[in-house]
Amino acid sequence: MTFYGDYHTHTRYSDGKNSIEENVAAAVSKGLKEIAVTDHGFRNMFCLKISDIQKQKKEIDACRIKYPNIKILHGIEADLVGTDGRIDLTREQFGLFDLVIAGYHPSARPYTLADMYGIHLKTYFSVVFKPTKEIIRQNTRAAIKMLERYKIDIYPHINHSFYVDIKEVAKVCADTGTYMELNAKHLDAEICKALFESDARLVANTDAHSSYNVGAFGGIESFITENGFDINRIENLKKGIELSGRI
Ligand SMILES: [Zn+2]
Ligand SMILES: [Zn+2]
Repeated sequence: MTFYGDYHTHTRYSDGKNSIEENVAAAVSKGLKEIAVTDHGFRNMFCLKISDIQKQKKEIDACRIKYPNIKILHGIEADLVGTDGRIDLTREQFGLFDLVIAGYHPSARPYTLADMYGIHLKTYFSVVFKPTKEIIRQNTRAAIKMLERYKIDIYPHINHSFYVDIKEVAKVCADTGTYMELNAKHLDAEICKALFESDARLVANTDAHSSYNVGAFGGIESFITENGFDINRIENLKKGIELSGRI
């Protein structure tokens, strides 16, 4: 089955293996109608450099001319870096992108020691041991504050090392129009069950770090059908996703 678009892909501008054009060409060859270029946020160890934003823009514009049959979105995968919901993207920088994914990454550097403790140490603790109710409560609060503070298009790979109450976060995503992601690299039946039971809009993404994996939805598709979930809930199966129209 060919999906309509892939909205989470990385290039050499962060930790991906290929160029923007190679990813776009791969998307075209796989029959996608839309692709978002979403390199890592500015406090991530593998970040897109702020000075490269315009360079990316020019490359994307050139690809838009060379590959007119695919819509190319200039996005970013920002990082949750504060217990107050803060991400590593300023309001001004927000306006530079067509699409913003925002979520937790252990490779992102918070701005303060308190956030280092609140966001990271507790997460490391919950990966090694089990997340306590208190940690889940605090993480959930941080994720909700982020979703209410910014217009985030996609909340990626939920509960991949940063544990939240999925029901609560999904409810806020449904209210704010934020898509929740089924990520090809992090598929978990229990997590997906909670996503499918929620009212949130769902998007499937490859999170490709090479052009080979751009548009490679086979794994997600068989995972969804094998687990008996309704594939028609995935909104980028047949059409493009609706952007939040930010700022
Ligand atoms: Zn990455
Ligand atoms: Zn990610």
